[in-house]
Amino acid sequence: MTDVILVLNAGSSSIKFAVYSYVEASGPALMSGKIVNIGQRPAFFAFGADDVVLPQNKLEQFDDTASHEDLIAWLLDWFGHSNQSYNIKCAGHRIVHGGRHFSRATLLTTSIISQLKALIPLAPLHQPHNLSAIEAVSNWAVQLPQIACFDTSYHHTQGPLAQMFALPREWYDKGILRYGFHGLSYEYIASRLPSYLGKLAEGRVIVAHLGNGASMCAMQHRQSVASSMGFTALDGLMMGQRCGSLDPGVLIHLLRHYKMSIKELEHMLYNESGLLGVSGISNNMQVLQESSLPNAKQAIDLFCYTAAQQLSSLVSTLNGIDAIVFTAGIGENSAQIRRQICERLTWLGVTLEPSANQRHKSVISDPNSLVKVLIIPTNEELVIAQATRSLLSTK
Ligand code: ADP
Repeated sequence: MTDVILVLNAGSSSIKFAVYSYVEASGPALMSGKIVNIGQRPAFFAFGADDVVLPQNKLEQFDDTASHEDLIAWLLDWFGHSNQSYNIKCAGHRIVHGGRHFSRATLLTTSIISQLKALIPLAPLHQPHNLSAIEAVSNWAVQLPQIACFDTSYHHTQGPLAQMFALPREWYDKGILRYGFHGLSYEYIASRLPSYLGKLAEGRVIVAHLGNGASMCAMQHRQSVASSMGFTALDGLMMGQRCGSLDPGVLIHLLRHYKMSIKELEHMLYNESGLLGVSGISNNMQVLQESSLPNAKQAIDLFCYTAAQQLSSLVSTLNGIDAIVFTAGIGENSAQIRRQICERLTWLGVTLEPSANQRHKSVISDPNSLVKVLIIPTNEELVIAQATRSLLSTK
């Protein structure tokens, strides 16, 4: 039997998992997989090392009413049946919100879980699913150590100016501030910077995490200085279905004059906006790139315009820029999006090397570019596995 760490990342419409050796915890994953399309027609995929599709990977179809908890229970059961050689020693969870308090990975206890429940109002569409995953694992193996790894922790190094809104001070004291998200991804990229940039890794770097959810983080000394995401994961860049930065006056107007309910408003901002809302076609960048419809092009153009705008604003928080890193689904795979964003940054001295960009090389800037531009594939699951292992080693 091999002792393993189970990593769970329960999102709103998907549950991703990965399995790492408990002894090494340095990757690559021994196995990974996901349940996607939750709430519609969920489907299951599993992969062995090197993303080889597992022979037992038959597409399981679930009822569209299956809850996150049901699906995780099914996953754990499947795992027990199909992997007799793995002994799950502990579970590491991606938790979207750790509030002001949780600045590092934390062993879950009843009291910590209550504190995480209290943060649900700050991430109502994500935190409950993260908590369901914890609950499902507890039901499956009550004594199994479980560790929470937070998307917000990495940003605890930010100063008050990067965190404050210009609202009456009492709201800051009550926790209405910018938390920043995608911290596990940024932590992974920060750990990889020295091998790509040498000494420059400690300089002024902006990382663009461009996936279905998208954000940017300004780093110096590989620590978070500022983030495009704010109080919630809605702020900043235009995303797959989320609007990104929005004049708050729009919200007041929609509530007052269109009598939208809070639920309708929330649904529109989180699920019907972004690439999907502007194109009217899809939230999927690849689909839009393959479309010849003008609204698809305009959605892509707005995505790039907004990304360049947000990046430019982060440059001022660093007082300049030495390197840009692209990561996540769009950042790692779309040469067109990287090009369109970088074309809007020529004033900063950014010049791409077109063929390197087209071939998704690690370094995609021209040798004479004043700013180095890189592609670094992210790995949030590995950060969770390592944090889980190192926390348990100290116990
Ligand atoms: P998340 O983890 O937030 O669900 P991902 O990081 O997997 O998202 O990114 C998903 C996005 O990446 C989708 O919009 C998808 O279309 C886009 N993407 C993936 N591969 C490509 C590609 N080759 N070209 C353009 N976009 C791509």
